[in-house]
Amino acid sequence: MLDTKSLLGASLDGKSEAWDNPLDVYELHQSTIDSLTNLCAKRFEFEHILNVPKVRTATEVRMNLGKAAHKAVEELINNDSKIPLGEVLQNNWNALVEPYVENSIVGERLSDEYNSDVLAAISWIHNEFDPRFLRSEMPFKIPEIWQLSDILKGVDKRWAFAGSMDLASFDEDKMTAKIVDMKFREKQQYERNKSSSQSSMYALAAAYHGFEPEFWYVDIIKGNVVEQKIDLNPKKYDWLYTKAAASILMLESNIYPLNTGGWWCSARWCSFWNSCRGKYEQDDSADSGIGS
Ligand code: SF4
Repeated sequence: MLDTKSLLGASLDGKSEAWDNPLDVYELHQSTIDSLTNLCAKRFEFEHILNVPKVRTATEVRMNLGKAAHKAVEELINNDSKIPLGEVLQNNWNALVEPYVENSIVGERLSDEYNSDVLAAISWIHNEFDPRFLRSEMPFKIPEIWQLSDILKGVDKRWAFAGSMDLASFDEDKMTAKIVDMKFREKQQYERNKSSSQSSMYALAAAYHGFEPEFWYVDIIKGNVVEQKIDLNPKKYDWLYTKAAASILMLESNIYPLNTGGWWCSARWCSFWNSCRGKYEQDDSADSGIGS
């Protein structure tokens, strides 16, 4: 059996380390790169550098539904203690979603959606993967990324890529790797999937260790499965290196450009709205005498 820990050189909680202290551990997680370069760098600074307390948003219940579904799928795949399906579903619902449900009718609808999503995901996994090779939540690490490309040549030699793959199948006879990232969503996000750094970083981790990778997004939408295979051409890796170099520059210089024009910059989606835009808008109008 593949010893993923020694092969990929990752710590089992590498994901959280990379997220919480990128500057302390010199590890870049894919979501760090996408937050800094694609979403809102200010939000990253509030959350991970300044540790500003988060305010609950209207969409948090949906995000937690995704987390609960991921956790339930992982526990069912690695279910050595044979906990019954219903119990795994209920435990994760109670721990991660229930506390955020404010309306019982909405709660009932979300609970049905969560149950059918997990069942659809498990059935898809059983059809697609040989259980002998399947790994879930598999940590990886690519050390010394300055060696990967001229684009990264100038970065501090300690920087590494790190993370954890939702689902991966490594066939050591054929030296192939099938990597899958599952998303539990309300609707498909085809373009967002394509532009994420996830596919290139995870595929790179497999290629770095000698495997020929393929990468799939699998969106689970209200019990339906939508597959999306990502084309891993060399330009995709160059784009990852470019974004990683920009992210490192931001982290090391402590200068974070604001990317405020997107859907994410609203009270509905951003936990830091009141510390950021809402606050400034209020102060601005007070200072300028608007309305007086
Ligand atoms: S309110 Fe907008 S600019 Fe401020 S942190 Fe949130 S997403 Fe970024």
